[in-house]
Amino acid sequence: DTLGPTVSIGEILAEIVGTTVGDGLGETQPLSGPYPSGAPAIFVAQCGRIGGSAAMIGTVGDDAFGRLNIDRLQSNGVDVSAVRIHPDLPTGTAFVRYQNDGSRDFIFNMWSSAAGDASWTPEVAALVARAGHLHVMGTLLAQENMWQLTQRAAKQIKARGGTVSLDPNLRKELTTNATTRARLREMVALTDVLLPSGDELFLAADITPDAAQTAALDALFARGISEVVLKQGAAGSICFAADGTTNHAPGLTVTEIDPTGAGDCFGGAYVACRRLGMPIKQALIYANAAGARNVTMRGPMEGAGTREELDNLINETKARTT
Ligand code: ATP
Ligand code: MG
Repeated sequence: DTLGPTVSIGEILAEIVGTTVGDGLGETQPLSGPYPSGAPAIFVAQCGRIGGSAAMIGTVGDDAFGRLNIDRLQSNGVDVSAVRIHPDLPTGTAFVRYQNDGSRDFIFNMWSSAAGDASWTPEVAALVARAGHLHVMGTLLAQENMWQLTQRAAKQIKARGGTVSLDPNLRKELTTNATTRARLREMVALTDVLLPSGDELFLAADITPDAAQTAALDALFARGISEVVLKQGAAGSICFAADGTTNHAPGLTVTEIDPTGAGDCFGGAYVACRRLGMPIKQALIYANAAGARNVTMRGPMEGAGTREELDNLINETKARTT
């Protein structure tokens, strides 16, 4: 990481998880938490934990949920110099319960909490000025202030020779909005590494989901993307590179307890490993292990693994299946 740390930007949340499966959060029930959370924070925690140089831009409240997050990021080696502590607003929260069909019911207090504060502070300016990579979540594109901050950081980091990764992570509702779609196009043009799952590949390429996958990939490469890393859940992942090479790594066989955060841990490990100089194939193997380890534990970033922990999981899983 000679160019500077991998920076993640966006919401930092405390997450409270229902411990039973069922119909929503409308009745008194057993809950577990608070857990440190927020997709950009999960990404950067895994990035730091595996040994990448990592830093976070975001805001928490001056409360126990904020301290929980800052402590966790620091213990994973993440630079929190640009994490702001808001004097008035509380730390953002997410309540989640799994439903019988495997879907999730969420109650967020996000952009109306400290997490929605997006100020270009002197600390943010100083971090961006020495950053080598920016990771962007698609959810930021739908929020005016976050978009302004993200766009400014991305342009500066690209201008100094850095790189950008984008996890589209866009819900259908967001992409029917013309402004969000235009921002997605602008962001894709700044992106080096795209980390989609499912139809997000086509959304990012701005073509219909019934088009051929090769058409979507060609459109993305034409816009300057060098690696498209497709997340495939329990099946693992596949990377299509602009130089024509394709690498696949199978998923690890694990028992899924809580799938929230798998994609973020996957991305954090992938970007960290690539920036540490690993070849694509090896980065995919570690990223799959990070995603797999994360689903085995309750709480969205509890399963983020060190390189040693991920090596152990990879070796144990091999032993079980052979
Ligand atoms: P999220 O639900 O966090 O948005 P995503 O859709 O972005 O996730 P997934 O494909 O669900 O991404 O998960 C990311 C990676 O984590 C997968 O590519 C895989 O390597 C790993 N993973 C996820 N679920 C499982 C599982 N049940 N078993 C093994 N590995 C898994
Ligand atoms: Mg996802």
